[in-house]
Amino acid sequence: MNKSAIINIEALEYAYTANDLVLRDLNLSVPYNAIYGFLGANGAGKTTTIRTVLGLLRPTNGQVQLFGKPIGPHRMELLSNIGALIESPSLYLHLSGYDNLKIACQYFNISYKKIEEVLALVQLEQAGNKLTKNYSTGMKQRLGLAIALLNDPDLLILDEPINGLDPNGIIQIREIIQDLHQAGKTIFLSSHLLSEVEKLATHVGVIHNGQLRFEGTIEEVNQLKQGLKVHIRTDEATRAVAILEAQYSLKILENNVVEMDLSSEDLVPSIIRLLTEQNIKLYEVKLVASDLEQLFVDLVNK
Ligand code: ATP
Repeated sequence: MNKSAIINIEALEYAYTANDLVLRDLNLSVPYNAIYGFLGANGAGKTTTIRTVLGLLRPTNGQVQLFGKPIGPHRMELLSNIGALIESPSLYLHLSGYDNLKIACQYFNISYKKIEEVLALVQLEQAGNKLTKNYSTGMKQRLGLAIALLNDPDLLILDEPINGLDPNGIIQIREIIQDLHQAGKTIFLSSHLLSEVEKLATHVGVIHNGQLRFEGTIEEVNQLKQGLKVHIRTDEATRAVAILEAQYSLKILENNVVEMDLSSEDLVPSIIRLLTEQNIKLYEVKLVASDLEQLFVDLVNK
């Protein structure tokens, strides 16, 4: 067991129905003070893992340790230092955000003094007195986060925290997570979007078919992504290819899009310069390898 990890999972197995393992020999280790992005496609086993970590499901086999202690005998003590948000928060919609927090304070025996503090942490200080039925999805999500923060936990576990949010809502959640991390908390969050996790995480774990296929720092993920594809949409694909083909491997796709294989995204600025100097118009330049599928392909091909 890795004692220096805040979450440590060893050889975890879980089956909802006999002989149908959803998690198989899953090993995972989250360092203290990480923002750990737990990535996987729909159905990969993220929520099942989180439920097992929180002791809501009992593993068929294997072990979960939190703060260096096994979850089984220490569950209540360990959970008192964890804030969790799984799927949408359950709120009393006919009550204000403030009153929802009051009920949670009563339930957890926490002073009401904490309410203003957590409302500010989740950028809801102006909306505390509004009825939650009038909140946007993002505001409800942030209120759920405020409830999870009431007991000032060292570890936050968030299941798909940006799912269903608009771009503004996503930015707010990202800022809040960064602030909480700065304040010394460890954050474990699941997502099916590598592009989102990349913007936040210090560490990444990739789950596929109930097994951890990759675990490493964000720098290691970036190294894996070397060897990427770029799509350039231009007004003159044939001329663009003629200019670049001596140096790069490339082909023309539909709609005047040129696809290039590059060893590093650092080459992109010089390619843009080369083409614009020749008066070729560039309508769009995008990296197309930064999605989870490509990471899986890279991992499987290693
Ligand atoms: P999503 O992003 O879609 O929630 P996930 O990675 O969180 O996916 P899980 O919800 O953990 O995945 O599901 C993993 C597998 O377990 C899926 O095949 C799912 O159908 C199955 N599963 C989940 N919950 C149950 C349940 N209560 N009973 C039976 N099977 C379940």
